[in-house]
Amino acid sequence: MTLKKLSPKSKVKPSHKVILAVGAHPDDIDIGYSGSIAKWTEQGAEVYYLVLTDGSKGSEDPHISNKELTQIRQAEQQAAADILGVKKVYFLNFVDGELENTPALRKHIIKIIRQIKPNTVICSDPTFYYDTHRHFINHPDHRIAGEATVDCVYPFARNARTFPELLAEGLQSHVVEELLLVNFTKATYFIDISKTIEKKVTAISAHKSQFNDIKKFTEMIKQMSSLMGKKAKPKKLKYAEGFIRILLHQSS
Ligand SMILES: [Zn+2]
Repeated sequence: MTLKKLSPKSKVKPSHKVILAVGAHPDDIDIGYSGSIAKWTEQGAEVYYLVLTDGSKGSEDPHISNKELTQIRQAEQQAAADILGVKKVYFLNFVDGELENTPALRKHIIKIIRQIKPNTVICSDPTFYYDTHRHFINHPDHRIAGEATVDCVYPFARNARTFPELLAEGLQSHVVEELLLVNFTKATYFIDISKTIEKKVTAISAHKSQFNDIKKFTEMIKQMSSLMGKKAKPKKLKYAEGFIRILLHQSS
C-alpha cells in the first residue's frame, strides 16, 4: 500500500462537478480559460457561463447600434459555449463599461449560484489591476465582475438572510467549495490544457466581431498558454492556464 500525501483537494469527482464561470463580457471566459472549460466538460462536469454585461462597447464601429452589437456578441458567445460543451449561458445585460458592484448585480449573481449550486466558481481576480511586463491595464469591468462574484461566493450566497425574498422563491443558501481567480501574473494553480488548446482556439475564433486578425491573436494565446505551461508546478506543461485557488469548504 502506498501512502498518499494529503492534499486539500475537493472530494467531488470531476464528472459530478458543477462549475460556474463568470465573465464581464462575451469572450472573457473563452480568452481566459476555455482550455480548462473544454477539459472539464470532456470529463463530464456541468459548466455554466454567466456574462454580466451586454458587450455593447466591444467595437470601434460608430455606426452599429448597441442592440445589434449585443445580439452579435451574444450569438458568438453561445457558439463558443456550444463548441466547449457548456450547458447554459446566462446573460445579465448590464451596460458594458458601466459595471458596478451593487446589490442589484450581487442579487442576480446570488440567484444563479443558488439555482445551479456550483462546487466551483471562477472569475477574474479583483486585485489584478495592471501588468507592467505586458504593458497592460485590466478592464474595470473585469475587476468589478471579480469583486462582485467573490462577494457573492462569500458571504452572500451562503447567508440565508441576504435577500430573504430569494428564500421565498425557494432558492436556499449555497456553499461554494472552490473559487478560482484568473490572474495571469500571480497564478499558483495550473490546469494542463495541452489536449484542449485547439478547442480553445476554435472557441475564441467564434468571437469573429472581436478580432481583425484572429490567426495572430490565437497565436498569441498559444504563446501565453505555453508560457503558463513553463511556470506550471509541480511539473512543466506544454500548455496551461493558471489560477489562484481558494478552497472554502470540503464536503465530508
Ligand atoms: Zn472583457
